[in-house]
Amino acid sequence: MLSLAEKIIFALIILGTAALFLTPLYQRFQIVRSGHPENRFDRMGKRVLHALSKILLQRCTLKNERLLTGFMHVAIFYGALTFDTMTINHTLEGFFPDFYLFGKTGLGDFFSLLVDIFAVLTLGGVLFFIIKRFVIRPKAYATTPLDSAFIYTALILVTLSYLYFEAFAIAHHPESMRLSFLGSSFARAIQAAGMSPAFVAAHFKISWWLHILLVFGFIAYVPHSKYLHMFTGSLNVVFRAPGVSRMVRGLDLEKSEVFGIEKALDFSWKDNLDALACMECGRCQDACPAFQSDKPLSPKMILFNMERHLLKNKKRIKNKKRDDLPALVPAVHTEGEIWTCTTCGACMHVCPVEIEHIQKIVGLRQSQVLMESKFPAELNAFFRNTETNSNPWGIGFAKRADWTEGLEVKLIQDHPDAEYLFWVGCAGSYDEEGKKIARAFATLLEKAGIDFAILGAEEKCCGDSARRLGNEYLFQTLAAEVIELFSQYKVKKILTICPHGFNTFKNEYPQLLDLVPAIRDQAKAHFKAIAVYHHVEFLHKLIREGRLKIESQAVEALTYHDPCYLGRHNGLLDEPRELLAGLTGQKVIELKNSREHSFCCGAGGGLMWTEESLGKRINHMRAEEVIQSGAPAVATACPFCLTMLRDALKDKGKENIKVKDIAVLLVESIESGIKPSPLAKL
Ligand code: SF4
Ligand code: SF4
Repeated sequence: MLSLAEKIIFALIILGTAALFLTPLYQRFQIVRSGHPENRFDRMGKRVLHALSKILLQRCTLKNERLLTGFMHVAIFYGALTFDTMTINHTLEGFFPDFYLFGKTGLGDFFSLLVDIFAVLTLGGVLFFIIKRFVIRPKAYATTPLDSAFIYTALILVTLSYLYFEAFAIAHHPESMRLSFLGSSFARAIQAAGMSPAFVAAHFKISWWLHILLVFGFIAYVPHSKYLHMFTGSLNVVFRAPGVSRMVRGLDLEKSEVFGIEKALDFSWKDNLDALACMECGRCQDACPAFQSDKPLSPKMILFNMERHLLKNKKRIKNKKRDDLPALVPAVHTEGEIWTCTTCGACMHVCPVEIEHIQKIVGLRQSQVLMESKFPAELNAFFRNTETNSNPWGIGFAKRADWTEGLEVKLIQDHPDAEYLFWVGCAGSYDEEGKKIARAFATLLEKAGIDFAILGAEEKCCGDSARRLGNEYLFQTLAAEVIELFSQYKVKKILTICPHGFNTFKNEYPQLLDLVPAIRDQAKAHFKAIAVYHHVEFLHKLIREGRLKIESQAVEALTYHDPCYLGRHNGLLDEPRELLAGLTGQKVIELKNSREHSFCCGAGGGLMWTEESLGKRINHMRAEEVIQSGAPAVATACPFCLTMLRDALKDKGKENIKVKDIAVLLVESIESGIKPSPLAKL
């Protein structure tokens, strides 16, 4: 089809495109490689299979929150795959006349049909995104409009130029007609218009070249644009770490020279890959309670600005010129951004390419707290109180067990063989509403005949807030003491009423065992065998086993607020709903944002202990959802969520809407004396 001279020109175009394509890829590879080591190479087969299934089935974009957009993305994704395959054909056709990738087979016919179908779907998908991005203009799409415009134009031109070529190819070689319904129709129109064979032959070649130039131009542009996510996003899914949203990265305080993330060289290679994988879809921003409440934080912009910084400083990063790099706060990220994250994990849950935002935000907090001593002023009291009295309020140890007054709760020192340790937590010990939950849960345990004890004055803070507020030193100190305490009393099973303590013991302490030398080997070995339960899952288990009986219809209809560290981070979503359905005899009234999509109460990430002075109050926004649900009462399973919701409903003059922990509701139900009825699903 091509003359020798044309073949040489075409070969040079291919080489030029390869250079333009591979150079930025190599630069990005160098950026990724310069990050700190992080082991994400285990179970590679499983990783690749997961990524392939997620990407090929487009489970990454077909998510509830943007279903229509997801379908349009699917159209473009499969359109691109089909056209990529056709480009291989088109390229080889330049060197080998009459080449057809699938030959004159049924598969070849089917492929010709697919190409035309996806030409239509791609054009439709691109039109959808043009309207969405440039007419509707949601905030989520505010970045890099020129890049988008260029890519949309390129996609349209590539598709149209292919149809131009296909029409003249069929008109020129009618025997090449297969099931390409568009090409055939246009070819018939060309024939009907009476165009001369020479004119048709000329356009056959012109259209071939035009399509080739557009396709190769597009390929050369992609790695310079955000559409590089086609490759980096897929890799990012391969190297994901399931459940990482619930764990802060541990710091080796003995060996590290830098604590947390101060400069770009402090990121791990996976952090760098995250930044290069962001497709700027803004799903994380839409889901973020901080962004929605007008705080200066957008998880998307954390990644976007990080990527810009990495690319701008790629030479310094590659050459490890640490002194030439600016501190990320305030050069790239503001204090307002890093101190308004509740670590709720909504961003990570919705991200199609599984980017890990929380690691970066907490890493930046760590460097601010541990190296610069910079943090919101009100945290001075929090850190001081937690250091001296092992609780955020600074109340004495002696008062830790005051909540047990009138109950027969044993101390573990008097009952060292207890099967369960009830870890009451700071809120359960000192907060008035928290104490009610502790009393209710202890009452239920007694009724079910559970052999348990508490630490009383020996209990300490688990360290969750300290860790998420960047004070890893305080967290590790507390954790080492608590692990020793568990070893001292040979604790076998732990019950908590707080999702934060539950998450910390279950997911974060195990990570410390190889990191903190202060923990004795014996204590480490002992801790590994401890089982941890949140009270909701434990009560669910007791009822299912018939050890505890609750009364149905003892309370009115309820809605339920999913605490982030119970639901999204730890997957305890059905248990509380089943308990509540058993209590009311009807399904839970769901809030607008529920289950994995729950909206944070505003207290997570240690923000319980800071002033929410910017934007709207997050707990007010969640209370609005409760009010809109029309439910007369809201249940929850976290003492912090309970306080936040109760305060917000009070601020809104809706004190008539009761806020109660599930344990309190269960005790009230039992004490009301109404006859039992079967529980739904249990
Ligand atoms: S963890 Fe929550 S608050 Fe923090 S950036 Fe993500 S969505 Fe926003
Ligand atoms: S971080 Fe993920 S969800 Fe957020 S804009 Fe980037 S790709 Fe989209």
